[in-house]
Amino acid sequence: MTELVFRDDAYARSCAARVVAADEKGIRLDRTVFYPTGGGQPGDTGTLRVASGETIAIVDTIKGEDPDDVVHVPTPGAPLPPPGTEVTAEIDWERRYRLMRMHTCLHLLCAAVPGAVTGGQVSDGRGRLDFDVPGSSLDKAAIAAQLNALIAAGHEVTPRWITDDQLEARPELVRTMSVKPPVGAGRVRLMEIAGLDMPIDLQPCGGTHIRNTAEIGRIKINKIESKGRQNRRVIVAFDE
Ligand SMILES: [Zn+2]
Repeated sequence: MTELVFRDDAYARSCAARVVAADEKGIRLDRTVFYPTGGGQPGDTGTLRVASGETIAIVDTIKGEDPDDVVHVPTPGAPLPPPGTEVTAEIDWERRYRLMRMHTCLHLLCAAVPGAVTGGQVSDGRGRLDFDVPGSSLDKAAIAAQLNALIAAGHEVTPRWITDDQLEARPELVRTMSVKPPVGAGRVRLMEIAGLDMPIDLQPCGGTHIRNTAEIGRIKINKIESKGRQNRRVIVAFDE
């Protein structure tokens, strides 16, 4: 099991760690700042630096078999560090910060568009959500204006933990049908975007988030595509 530094502090860019195992799949550390692919957010890239100054480039991060198992995928053919090696694990922060901003923006999009979310994906500089809504009821300009207003208002984004049982009693919290919340560990992390009287968005999420919506910056809606009779894909990008 890996200590997930990014879960408590999404702004941590590096950490000291020790190699626990290394095989053809990748490198496991006792603790890490690298977020593994999941919940529509891509895994981190970056480097592991050993004491001699040599670096191992990490091209992807994925989940292992266990819930908190993180596998750092090195460049193919790179020599693997033996277990016990002390390293400094450092993510490509510029890329991660863009992913955090876009990921958090998709939470706002969730709040701006009524209807169940059937899928989603964050990529570098853009993101998309699929909504189960009929016809052409979604207005590109109106959604962009609403999102930019929510972003500019500077709402706080904070984690809150509840038990698996509490989540089971409130199924309405699960907005995304395609992404099951990570239950089974006894507790689940909710991300709340604070509003005036009630949260703007509140749902289980294991991804990485910024602290305040103002950090997202201006966005635009690139397009709204029809993916079947009931399915509308909304594609968001940074407007910069
Ligand atoms: Zn999230």
